[in-house]
Amino acid sequence: MDTERIAENLNRVVESVRNAERKAGRKEGSVKLLAVSKFHPAEAVIAAIGAGQSAFGENRVQEAYEKFNKIYEDFPSAELHIIGTLQKNKAARAVRIASCIESVDRLGIIEELEKQCAKIDKSIDILLEYHTGEASKAGFLSYENMYEALRYCAEGNAPHIVPKGFMTMAPFTDDEIAVRKSFVSLRDASEKLQKEFPSFDLTTLSMGMSADYKIAIEEGSTEVRIGTAIFGERETAAL
Ligand SMILES: *Cc1c(COP(=O)(O)O)cnc(C)c1O
Repeated sequence: MDTERIAENLNRVVESVRNAERKAGRKEGSVKLLAVSKFHPAEAVIAAIGAGQSAFGENRVQEAYEKFNKIYEDFPSAELHIIGTLQKNKAARAVRIASCIESVDRLGIIEELEKQCAKIDKSIDILLEYHTGEASKAGFLSYENMYEALRYCAEGNAPHIVPKGFMTMAPFTDDEIAVRKSFVSLRDASEKLQKEFPSFDLTTLSMGMSADYKIAIEEGSTEVRIGTAIFGERETAAL
């Protein structure tokens, strides 16, 4: 683990995100950087915090729970988003450590998150993950299912759940057209659903990873999730 290397990488990524915003004619600072620290130790997260980063993404609740309980002792304002598929039996821990669950992919998980949030009287932000490419099997498979999930929330069934927008993973391919298509379909779905549910602010579009964030920013991303370009290669399989 190399503190200096992480700081350098982070500065380079932040600079590159700002450049991509400029090139795409986006407002400066309109794209948030989520540093994905899965499979990297607490010390790597602390190095990134030292270099000015505040928001992190983890995809396994158990790993995140141990790591971030330690980190919060010294850095209580660190922000954690869960970005990996969530099992119901992990929801209680997830709502305790995270401020946002980006990988909501079914109505059942919204019900469980609501139940767990109600117990500790905490509200949590969620993004609906939309399956737009073949990178993973995760995510809502259809627009209609996302509509139903938002309607469930809009009808007041989940008062502790705050829908904030959408997340997707583009296919892992060099085919730029396929990647772009995936991002465009998330943006299109988000625009339609925002019109259907004007009482929610569904403006977060979490799309773009180390390999494809520049394309994502061109297509309207408001949050990029970057791991490898900041923390280096992971030793364990990524997903
Ligand atoms: C691992 C992961 C990322 C970060 O991937 P990199 O290629 O390392 O930048 C982003 N989003 C999700 C959902 C992930 O699982």
